[in-house]
Amino acid sequence: MRGSYTIRQRPGSLYNFARMMKMGASLKIEVGKVPNGVLFASTLALLLFGVWIISPFYDPKLVDPISSLGLIVISLITAGFGFNIASNKTFFLPVRRAWTFFAIGSLSGAIAETIWFYYYYILVTNPSISVADLFYLLTFPLILLGILSLPYASLNREQRLLLNVDMVIVVLVAALFLWHFVLVDLIKQGVRGLPGLVSIAYPIADLVILSGLVSLLQQTIRGIGRMIVLFFALGIGLSILADILFAAYKTFNVSEGSAPLDLLWLVSRWAILVAAIWQTNQTKVEEKQSESFSPLLRTNLLYIAVLLGMGLAFFELESVLQSNLNLYGTLFGAFGITVLVLVRQYIFLQDNRRLHEELEHLATSDPLTGIANRRFFEETLAREIKRAQRYQRQLSLLMIDIDNFKNYNDQHGHPMGDKLLQDCAHLFRALLRDSDLVARYGGDEFVVILPEISVEQGKFVADKLRKIKIGTLASEEEIAISIGCAAFQQDMTAASLLELADQDLYRQKPDTAGR
Ligand code: GH3
Ligand code: MG
Repeated sequence: MRGSYTIRQRPGSLYNFARMMKMGASLKIEVGKVPNGVLFASTLALLLFGVWIISPFYDPKLVDPISSLGLIVISLITAGFGFNIASNKTFFLPVRRAWTFFAIGSLSGAIAETIWFYYYYILVTNPSISVADLFYLLTFPLILLGILSLPYASLNREQRLLLNVDMVIVVLVAALFLWHFVLVDLIKQGVRGLPGLVSIAYPIADLVILSGLVSLLQQTIRGIGRMIVLFFALGIGLSILADILFAAYKTFNVSEGSAPLDLLWLVSRWAILVAAIWQTNQTKVEEKQSESFSPLLRTNLLYIAVLLGMGLAFFELESVLQSNLNLYGTLFGAFGITVLVLVRQYIFLQDNRRLHEELEHLATSDPLTGIANRRFFEETLAREIKRAQRYQRQLSLLMIDIDNFKNYNDQHGHPMGDKLLQDCAHLFRALLRDSDLVARYGGDEFVVILPEISVEQGKFVADKLRKIKIGTLASEEEIAISIGCAAFQQDMTAASLLELADQDLYRQKPDTAGR
């Protein structure tokens, strides 16, 4: 392909790549051995349990004690991993704080399950309430506190308002289901006193934890892996579902020691264990990376919630209204209209979002190369500096300039110069990590923000980039680049960090070096 470049010095970059892979692999095996073993064993145990309950060897008398012991073991291990994360200084403080709460929550769950086991199988009694309930109920506020202390990206007033409305909608719909399947029965039975209070406390605790789940799913979280949040949310979601099914066991004909319900509970605890293991592995292996990701269900969650609520009302009214055809027609017509308006609004929202993304892209990217522009770079640098200051993290900055670019332009013409700039941008982007920001600073200058990277590591990255000789097939000549590197110190501003990188760049320039 004419006008494109090849990466010269293949052996060098391949060697570096192989070295990095080797380092990563040995690190992973070293720290991942215990967590991955536990992950493997717990998954296998869960699968065996699943196979057992549908096999001819299934014994309904054994399912409850086995799953109960399983829950105790899983919760204890999760607590262990949680405390381990909490005490590991390489993690972000908010992440450590969150896992402290999750670990205490898991421990509390394990204690509750043990007490219940003791009553049921050792004392052979089944008290309607016991200390076990206290520990069970304690897990809810602990998990909620953990969820609330995760490192969320900051929200403006409108976004916070939206989040709150989202929470109310989802909780209201869940309350609708609880009312329908659980509370009406409880009220009819007329349970009073402390047992009544406790049986009401569970659904309410579920609603509260559900609002935490919405907060988790609808916000942008920084410095924590997507899969971790996914598994965690899955665990919480399934345990709410299991709770509701359990409470409504009469409605759904699920008997108290039913195998599917036990499996659901085990899977929910297992998902949280997976999150803990993932977290344990992540930061040690990818210590330098701080992932941030967009909400998992930003708009869809609400539509699902509203449709579920409407569906419930629909089925209830369907049978009651058969005798009143007038009301029947009017109400279902109104339902239909509401659903259609929702669908229309959803389509409109998607279109709006696409427009918003397009605009954002235009405002933050450089039109020639497609990478971030100077404006986005400055915003990001300011944010990264604040983060590095606050959490005492390392941060490095590279400033890259193409050598003798004027000559290149003169010899090959501006369009070829443009092409070279684009190729450089793509190369840098491809060679650096996703967590690094590559931006075009202007003209033939590029900048790279390297979060969590020390000055030595920054120089290593600069060397790696410098070693790529960008030769053009058109001229067979090699294009060289100069790279300045600066590391952030606690009292620096964005301007002084840039200036330092610029000074280093000037020292690296071939015509000034050694002067
Ligand atoms: P040095 O080795 O000192 O960096 O020398 P240099 O020739 O690269 O000098 P300098 O970095 O000051 O030159 C920048 C040149 O980049 C000047 C300008 O003509 C060219 N340039 C700036 N923006 C563009 C662009 O968008 N497209 C093209 N083709 N050239 C550009
Ligand atoms: Mg230049």
